[in-house]
Amino acid sequence: GYCADTGTFHSLRAPVPLPPPDLPLSFPAFAFSLLPSPLPTRPALIDSATGEAVPFPAFLARVRALAAHLRASLSLARGDVAFVLAPPGVHVPVLCHALMAVGAVVSPANPALTAGEVAGLVALSKPSVAFAVSSTVGKLPPELSTSAVLLDSPRFLSFLQRPAGAHATAVIHQSDPAAILYSSGTTGRAKAVVLTHRNLMLARTVPAPPPDDVPMLAVPMFHIYGFVFCLIAAMSAQTLVLHTARRFNARDVLAAVGRFRVTRLALAPAALMAVVRTAEEDRSVVAAASTLQTVLCGGAAVPAELIRRFPEKFPRAVVAQGYGLTEATAGFVRAIGAEEVRRIGSVGRLNWGTEAKIVDPETGDALPPGLPGELWVRGHFVMKGYHGDKEATSAILDSEGWLKTGDVCRIDRDGFLFVVDRLKELIKCKGYQVAPAELEGLLQAHSDIDEAAVVGYSDDQAGELPVAFVLRRFGSDLSEAQIKAFVAEQVVHYKRIHHVFFVDSIPRNAAGKILRKDLVKSMLHPISSK
Ligand code: AMP
Repeated sequence: GYCADTGTFHSLRAPVPLPPPDLPLSFPAFAFSLLPSPLPTRPALIDSATGEAVPFPAFLARVRALAAHLRASLSLARGDVAFVLAPPGVHVPVLCHALMAVGAVVSPANPALTAGEVAGLVALSKPSVAFAVSSTVGKLPPELSTSAVLLDSPRFLSFLQRPAGAHATAVIHQSDPAAILYSSGTTGRAKAVVLTHRNLMLARTVPAPPPDDVPMLAVPMFHIYGFVFCLIAAMSAQTLVLHTARRFNARDVLAAVGRFRVTRLALAPAALMAVVRTAEEDRSVVAAASTLQTVLCGGAAVPAELIRRFPEKFPRAVVAQGYGLTEATAGFVRAIGAEEVRRIGSVGRLNWGTEAKIVDPETGDALPPGLPGELWVRGHFVMKGYHGDKEATSAILDSEGWLKTGDVCRIDRDGFLFVVDRLKELIKCKGYQVAPAELEGLLQAHSDIDEAAVVGYSDDQAGELPVAFVLRRFGSDLSEAQIKAFVAEQVVHYKRIHHVFFVDSIPRNAAGKILRKDLVKSMLHPISSK
């Protein structure tokens, strides 16, 4: 519904029944209270690569045993931040629930990051303990690596099995921090997004997905999309299949769909593209994935053409889009049901508890339905703020609780939201965040580079690829290959520079801000693949 007086759009969905906000309650206590009694006998978690299954009673028992050990053996207390650097696997949801159950703040990060990138995140969230695996522990700074708990160690496995003695439990408030994830927001480098127990409770959707639905997660668990997806499956008493293959391969994903009778598959747009292409090349992979009903896709723009191609190969399934951001605990806009899914180009309608405004970026005025402007949202899903960064928090979150998304959107009279453009600096490569400021910082640290700017170049498969505009020091013959290699050795794969344009100046406005749109426009010619 649209209210012309305030210029605000409201959700028309049914309210989600939630506990009174003042009731002391952790997210895991809330989630487990929703499970039926007796507990379902089906698995709570399945590892797609090994086939290992954890039944619901074992899942809850592991969470409880581990929570007791976090208190007794690791002395973790309310408010302590725990950094998690691990590949996807059945231990990760157990660990996340156990940490939140004792009031600790879980902070998952991409295990493929370099040690330098990890150090940057650790400096933001200031964890007191880390959880890793043997292959990632070496990337942690020394103060964390020496005491890190390895998920593939006998010690951790013993924590899951053996209940620890009774220990005083802390009172946890719904407004307490539960998780820290990382996002660059609208400008600058990565920041630590603090989400509360209450924020996560709102991940609950109405109507709750049927328990015999089998979701599979093929997006990272450290990204808000995957993180919340795990929590929803657990509280909905569903079997969650975790796609644990080390490299993404569409054929493996579809084979796992068939093997575990998956009905709902969560993918990033680049992965959906790979799935559709594979299906176009080989019909047999489609036949194998006959249980598939819905592909949930979001995290970056989903090309409309892809949504049209999908049903040609998967006539019994639909693509349901979702839109959101880390600062808003993942998606607050979703396509639910046949009518919404059929609106090609739209990302869906506002979830319950969401207010939205479309604001003219020049005048700050709220715009009526149909016109594009910056999307502002308000609701209980909005983050508490950026950890230890009041300035960045007040830049994105105003005093009335409006979160400025940095996305240009329009909402039509029927309440359908369309993402039109992006105002913010963020680059989305394969659904991952790439912060231009971070790559510019690395480039400018090179002694032969005077100035650098990084923007996104639109790409069929990845969505966007980072490209650099570089002003070399006078007389330098630094090459494109040298620049690419210089960056590549310091960053995770999706932050690598794909092309370098050598320029005589970087366009800036009077305030010294890089005119990124001008740079994007200057890339008229397609980049040859070298
Ligand atoms: P993240 O915090 O990594 O989830 O990034 C959030 C940003 O990704 C949003 O502000 C959008 O710019 C973009 N995004 C997420 N979902 C979509 C979507 N369905 N369509 C277009 N852009 C999206």
